[in-house]
Amino acid sequence: MDVTIEQSCPSCGASIVLNEDDKLVQCAFCDVHNYKIGSVGSRYVLPAKLPDHLEEDQLIFAPYLRFKGSIFYVQDDEVKHKIVDTTRLGLDSQQLPVSLGLRPQAMKIKPVVSSTRGAFILQSIPTKTVFSYAARIMDLFSERNKNNTYHRAFIGETLSRIYQPCYMQDDQLYDAVSNRVVGHRSKLEKHLHKTCSSKVSWEPQFITTICPRCGGLLSGERDSMVLQCRNCESLWQEHKQKFIPVDWKVVASNDRGARYLPFWRITFDTTGYVLKSFGDFLRFTNQPLVAMLKYDTQALVFWIPAFKINPKAFL
Ligand SMILES: [Zn+2]
Ligand SMILES: [Zn+2]
Repeated sequence: MDVTIEQSCPSCGASIVLNEDDKLVQCAFCDVHNYKIGSVGSRYVLPAKLPDHLEEDQLIFAPYLRFKGSIFYVQDDEVKHKIVDTTRLGLDSQQLPVSLGLRPQAMKIKPVVSSTRGAFILQSIPTKTVFSYAARIMDLFSERNKNNTYHRAFIGETLSRIYQPCYMQDDQLYDAVSNRVVGHRSKLEKHLHKTCSSKVSWEPQFITTICPRCGGLLSGERDSMVLQCRNCESLWQEHKQKFIPVDWKVVASNDRGARYLPFWRITFDTTGYVLKSFGDFLRFTNQPLVAMLKYDTQALVFWIPAFKINPKAFL
């Protein structure tokens, strides 16, 4: 399910509504295009309804991790997959709910900015551990027989933090969305001591979508990872807050109705076992194919779809 975010336009400050995986942002008020950088680690807050006698400074935010994407895992002799779309508490506490449930989908969440007031409780469980809890819970509900899982990888569209606003009143911690009691102060004391305020580095960052080569406007879909300059026929990818060129080639077709699908061509380094050539790959995976000399001169690369694809079709 999609999560919508209420965000202010980085150019004119107008309020705009985005999907959580939106990268290319066009403001309807100032017409400026901006590109949101860094998709991992965004921080959001659920909207709070504080009682009138309390100040925003008294808000206490509990951290939840949001995972959205696919899990691929090796179980016995098969590679399997699952879709994951969940939130999990980042604290070892029995008081707070383990998940935010449907709240992030049901309300507009806001990015944490440096002016967001309140105390942010520090995550007390490592992200990897929180994620393996989430994965294990899914296994419990969907797999009847417990087999050996050798490896599990999360291919995430989203890994972000959503904070649940709370406040303290009469030694009880209240959920500031529903105004219900969460638990007694004494049971949450160790977490309430470890907090920090919002940081400038948590704010979403944007760069303008101008082609570094010719000054033309870069274009793409709202969730594109690579933008295109139609003026100088170049492709650009964000890297360390700058657009860097992406080399591209096309397999030309004479068919005028042809559709062109993008693929990433990925080269890589390995540690331990050397996998440089296609011949190395054949030997490593024990393929029933004679590792001929020509395979040893053929560089090993991966070709991966550069468009969203259903995990089953991907496998
Ligand atoms: Zn604007
Ligand atoms: Zn250009």
